[in-house]
Amino acid sequence: MTTQVKSYAAQSATDSLAPFAIKRRSPGPDDVAIEILFCGICHSDLHYTHNDWADALPAVYPVVPGHEIVGRVTTIGANVTKHKVGDLVGVGCLVDSDHTCPNCQSDLENFCQNLTLTFGSTDKHGTAPMTFGGYSESIVVNERFVLRVPTNLDIEGTAPLLCAGITTYSPLRRNEVGPGKKVGIVGLGGLGHMGVKLARAFGAHVVVFTTSPRKIEDALRLGAHEVIVSSNADELAKHAGSFDFILDTVSAEHDINQYLYQLKIDGNLTLVGAPPKPLALSSFALIFGNRSISGSNIGGIAQTQEMLDFCGEHNITADVEVIPVQKINEAWGRLEKADVKYRFVIDMASLKS
Ligand code: NAP
Ligand code: ZN
Repeated sequence: MTTQVKSYAAQSATDSLAPFAIKRRSPGPDDVAIEILFCGICHSDLHYTHNDWADALPAVYPVVPGHEIVGRVTTIGANVTKHKVGDLVGVGCLVDSDHTCPNCQSDLENFCQNLTLTFGSTDKHGTAPMTFGGYSESIVVNERFVLRVPTNLDIEGTAPLLCAGITTYSPLRRNEVGPGKKVGIVGLGGLGHMGVKLARAFGAHVVVFTTSPRKIEDALRLGAHEVIVSSNADELAKHAGSFDFILDTVSAEHDINQYLYQLKIDGNLTLVGAPPKPLALSSFALIFGNRSISGSNIGGIAQTQEMLDFCGEHNITADVEVIPVQKINEAWGRLEKADVKYRFVIDMASLKS
C-alpha cells in the first residue's frame, strides 16, 4: 500500500523545482511515518540536482531533494519502540543501511556500503525507483534512522542541525576542538555558521575566513572571535602558521593552499565542502609543516543524536530564513551567490496551500 503526497521535484539538471506527486509506502513493522514540518536547504541539494557531482554521485531524475527534516510522528509500525505518535523527530541524510556490516556495527552507518540516502538512492522498498527527500509533505523511515529532537529549541532552526549540524560537529569533535585550540572555519554559509557556533560552544578560539566582507559583523555575532577576509594578504600573513585545525566548508572552487599555510606544524585542514571540480593542492603547503588534509562525511546516527542533545543543552540552532515552498527556486538562486543568512528552511505547511 502507498499514499500519494505532494512534493517539489526537478525533472532534469536544468529544470526548476516544481510541484510533483510522489508515493510514500505504508509504514512497515520497523517504520515511522512523519509529517514534515520544516526542511532545510543544503547546498548538496543544489549540487546533486544540478548533477555537479556527475562522476561521484550521478543524479537520477526526478529528484525530490531535502535531508534536513523535522516533523511529527503520525504512525508507527508494530515493532517500533524508539518513537511514539506525536513525537517531534528529525531525519538527516540517511534513511537506512544494512545494519550488519562493520561500519554499521561501529556506529558509522554513513560509511555502510549499502546505505540508503534520504534522496537519490535506490529505493529498496520499491515504492519508487529512487528515494525522495524532504521537500515533501511526509516521509516513512526505519526507526533507527529517526532522531529525537530536543523540544526546547525552535523547530525551524533545528532542521539544519540534521545535516549542517552533524557535518560540522563530527570533524570538530574528532579533532578535539576545545579550550586552548585555535580553529578556522572557511566559508560562512549553512555549514560554516554551524561550525562557528559549535566550535565556540566547545571552548575554542574561533576565526572565520570569508570572501564576503558584508558578513564580518554576523560572524562575530555568531560566535567568532576574529574574522579574516580571505583576499586580505596582510591579515593572512599575520595569522600564518598559527591554527591547530581548519574546517573548510566552501562549495565552489577556491585556493585551499592559502589556508594550509595558516596551520601550525602538524595542523590539519578538513574538507567538508564538496566543490564540483578537483581542488589544486600544493605539496609544499603540506611538506613545510608536516600538515595534513582530510575529509569528513556527515556523521553516524549515534553521533547525530549526541549532536542534537548537545544543541538542546546549549540552546544551539541555525540562524534561518524561513520560506514557503513556492520560493524555493529564488532561494536556490541566492544560495548559489552565497547570499543566505544562514540557512533557508522551507515551511512545509505552505505545500498544502
Ligand atoms: P552554503 O550555505 O552555500 O555555504 C558555502 C559558503 O562557501 C558560502 O556562504 C561562501 O562563504 C563560501 N563560498 C561560496 N562560493 C565561494 C567561492 N567561489 N569561493 C570561496 N568561497 C565561496 O553551502 P553549505 O550548505 O554550507 O554547503 C557547503 C558545502 O558542503 C557544499 O559543497 C555541500 O555540498 C557540502 N556538504 C558536505 C557535507 C559532507 O558530509 N561533507 C554535508 C553537507 C554539505 P563566504 O561568503 O563566507 O565566503
Ligand atoms: Zn546537507
